Amino acid sequence: MEVRERIREVTLKIFELYGERMRLVNSIARVKREKGLPVRDREVEASLWEAVKRKCQEEGLNERNCERMFALLISSSIEAQVPKSGAGAHIEIFRRAKAMEREGRKVYHLEVGEPAWGPPEEALEALFDSVRKGEIRYGPSTGLPRFKEAASRWVSRRDGVDVGPDSLVPTPGSKFALFALMSMLTDKGDRVGLIRPTWPGYLGIASSLGLEVVSAEEDFEALRGSRVIVVCSPNNPDGRVLSRSQLEELVEVASESNSYIVSDDAYAELSFVERTPVTKIYERAISVNSMSKAFGMTGFRIGYVYGPKEVVDSLAKFLAVTVTNVPEFIQEAAGAALEVGEKHLAQVRERLSSMLRFAEENLKNTKLEFKRPDGGLYLFPRVELDGFDSLQFSRELLEKKGVAVAPGIAFGPYPDRIRVTFASMHGYEGIPLLKEALA
Ligand code: PMP
Repeated sequence: MEVRERIREVTLKIFELYGERMRLVNSIARVKREKGLPVRDREVEASLWEAVKRKCQEEGLNERNCERMFALLISSSIEAQVPKSGAGAHIEIFRRAKAMEREGRKVYHLEVGEPAWGPPEEALEALFDSVRKGEIRYGPSTGLPRFKEAASRWVSRRDGVDVGPDSLVPTPGSKFALFALMSMLTDKGDRVGLIRPTWPGYLGIASSLGLEVVSAEEDFEALRGSRVIVVCSPNNPDGRVLSRSQLEELVEVASESNSYIVSDDAYAELSFVERTPVTKIYERAISVNSMSKAFGMTGFRIGYVYGPKEVVDSLAKFLAVTVTNVPEFIQEAAGAALEVGEKHLAQVRERLSSMLRFAEENLKNTKLEFKRPDGGLYLFPRVELDGFDSLQFSRELLEKKGVAVAPGIAFGPYPDRIRVTFASMHGYEGIPLLKEALA
C-alpha cells in the first residue's frame, strides 16, 4: 500500500513538473513572438533529445517510451504557441444565408467563390457516357490517361512549361490538394508563409495541422524560414497578380531556407493581365489547380497538381491511403472540359469582363473604393463610411437586403473592406441591391 501511495505521489509530481514546463514554454513563446522567432528550433530540440536519451539510458528506461514522452512534451509546447483558428467570419455569413434560404427567403450569394457559368456541355456528355459505360468502380490513385494527358497539355501551354502526365495527379478539388500537400511537406510547428490578404482556407489548413502562420503584404522578408510559402496569383480576395519581380523576390526568400512554394493557381485562367507562373522560375514550386472556377465545376470536386515528380508521387500515395481516387467519370468530365478549354475559356472571359464592367459601373460613385482587379471573380473594396465594421455590415446587409458578401476581416486585418463575388450567378441582381444599401 505504501508503494501504491508513493506511485500516486510521483505521478502527481510528474504533472506538477509538466505544469512548470508549460509555464516556461508560455514565457519563451512571448519572447519569440516579440522577436519574430519561429516556434520550432530544431537544433535546440535535437540537443535536448540527446540529453533526454542519455538520462533514459542512465535510468535503464525503454528508449521507445522515452521517445514518445518526449514527442508529447514537444507537441504540447508547439500547441501552446500555435493558436487554433475558428471557422471564420465568412462562414458565419454563408451559414446564415443558407439558413435564410431554408426559411424561404431569397438570398443573393455574393459571398462564395462560385462563378455564374457552369462546365462546357462536352463535360456533361463525357460524364454521362462514362457512367453508362460502367466506369463506376475503384480506379488508380495516380489518375486516368485521358485526364492526365488533357491536363498536362493544358498547363504546359498555359504556363509555358513542359509538364508530362507523370508529373501530374488529379485530386478531389484543389482544397484537398492544398491540405494534402501541406500535411506532406510540413511537421507540426513549422512555419507556413502566406501573402495578405489571404484566402481563409489556408488558415483552416494551417490550424488543423498545428502550423505557425506568418504573413506579409508587400515585403516578403517576414516569410523567411517558412517550410512552405503559399502564393495565389490572381489572389483571392483582392485579385492581385504578382509581378515577375515580386515573384523573383519571393523565390529568393524561399530558396534561402529551401522552402517549397505552393502556387495556388485556382484563378490562373482568369487573369486580365500577364501572369508569371512560379513553376517557371523556381524548382521547388508546386502548382495546385482547380476545375471549379474557370470551368465552373465546383460541385464535381476535381483539381490537379503538377510539380516535382517526387512530390507528385507522394501525393498519389496520400490519395491512395485517403480517398483512393477521384471518381473516373469525374475525371472523364474534366478531361473533356479541358479538351475544349480554349473555346470554353473565350466565352468565360467575355462573361467575366462584362460582369466586371457591370459591377464597376454600378459601384462607382458609391462609398466603395476599389481598383480594377488583375484577375479572379472578386472585388475587395474599402468601404468609406465612418466606423465601418465589415462583419456588422455583412450581417445587416444579409438581413435587410438578402445580399450576402464576405466580411473583410475573414481575409486578415481588413475590417474596412468587404469581398464581393462580382461574377456570381446573382451578380446582376445582387450588385444593384448592394448599391442601394450604400446609398
Ligand atoms: N484556392 C482558392 C484561392 C480558392 O478561392 C478556392 C475556392 N474558393 C480553392 C482554392 C478551393 O477550390 P476547389 O477545392 O473547389 O478546387
